[in-house]
Amino acid sequence: MYDIMKVELISVGTELLLGDIVNTNAQYLSRELANIGISVYHQSTVGDNFDRLIQCFDEALSRSDVVITTGGLGPTKDDITKEAACRYFGFTEELNDKVWEKIEERLKKYRKNNVVSENNKKQAMFPKEAQIIDNEYGTAPGAIYEKDGKKIIVMPGPPREMMPMFDNKIKPFLSKESDDVFVSRYVRFYGIGESNLETQLEDILDKQTNPTIALYAKSGEVLIRVTASGKDKEHCLKMIEKEIEKLKDRVGKYIYLIGDESISSSQSELEKVTAALLVEKKIKIATAESCTGGKVASMLIDYPGISDVFLEGLVTYSNEAKMRTLGVKEDTLKKHGAVSYETAVEMARGAAKYTGADIAVSTTGVAGPGGGTKEKPVGLVYIGVYFRGVEKAYEMTYSGTRNLVRDRAARDAINFVRELVK
Ligand code: ATP
Ligand code: MG
Repeated sequence: MYDIMKVELISVGTELLLGDIVNTNAQYLSRELANIGISVYHQSTVGDNFDRLIQCFDEALSRSDVVITTGGLGPTKDDITKEAACRYFGFTEELNDKVWEKIEERLKKYRKNNVVSENNKKQAMFPKEAQIIDNEYGTAPGAIYEKDGKKIIVMPGPPREMMPMFDNKIKPFLSKESDDVFVSRYVRFYGIGESNLETQLEDILDKQTNPTIALYAKSGEVLIRVTASGKDKEHCLKMIEKEIEKLKDRVGKYIYLIGDESISSSQSELEKVTAALLVEKKIKIATAESCTGGKVASMLIDYPGISDVFLEGLVTYSNEAKMRTLGVKEDTLKKHGAVSYETAVEMARGAAKYTGADIAVSTTGVAGPGGGTKEKPVGLVYIGVYFRGVEKAYEMTYSGTRNLVRDRAARDAINFVRELVK
């Protein structure tokens, strides 16, 4: 075995010690580091106190190679992380003109009525030894300080600034420092919840070492990241491929996309995948929506290039519109109601006939909050599909607010289309 880099975390902030905020930064960083194969052996939390922070650095760097801090990079007096790191290494801070220019620019842009305060200069103070790390989401840059093979990496406290800085700058830096390469592939799931997926993969998750598998809940779906470390990329990809095969065997029917980093950050790729399939297969589509009110159409139309195949999106909200435009029979509405299997099927069929589409999808349901009955409670939605002469409907029950019900119905409608044309 080669030498494994030892990293530890120091979370800076009195708020953390008082229990005013939860230390999500430490959780995030620990997990991210584990995913690139770096072990974190210690975590500590320290208040905004210069001497105690110095003491923390001393202890941490006596047993580890790298210390990563978050917090304490703000413009006020109690923000002392950089100053302490520089004191610890014996570096002298001076105003960095380039950084200052950037900070001024940013402050002028975002705080139009405020004068730039002298305090902010604190955030532009760096020793010449520092490697300065851009902050794309805030004023305070991060930095990497290094002396005699020991490193202190400082990052801002707010998670929305820290996370992208870590992902885009620090992670690649640490990967380079280590002898190994780290490769990740991402697998997206639809139609299965996080805890259910976790249960089905329990033994695989328990055994994981290399590759590592991380589960992330996205809104309405789950993302799995498989990361392997090894001597070269090809070897890593082979290991990952084996792991993904296991996932496919076990829960393959829920997998809708496998890819690289580019498919990892969005909440969903389902619409894109579905729209791309329709375009690729030249399958013309129309939508007939009641409770989703155009969401299905809108989601598909988000995809550039959909104009080749998207014919028409109909929002037929009233019974009258369902009959007039889609040819839903009055009899059907009377006998089964607007929210029914039969109506959903007739809506989809009608939309296909009316527009000449190959595939049509319909939604009709009780989105709430009112309007529910014992037989047809709030959350009941029928999604109808018609595809080249074959027709059916799915009965779904959702819980949640009106908007949630409508969102989930729209996403399921898209997913049924995807499953049919796939
Ligand atoms: P600022 O410029 O906002 O002062 P900073 O880098 O000085 O940023 P802190 O002052 O320590 O950071 O914290 C600012 C805010 O960032 C906190 O109020 C909190 O909302 C969030 N934060 C800081 N540390 C953590 C942490 N470990 N976990 C989660 N959130 C944190
Ligand atoms: Mg602060």
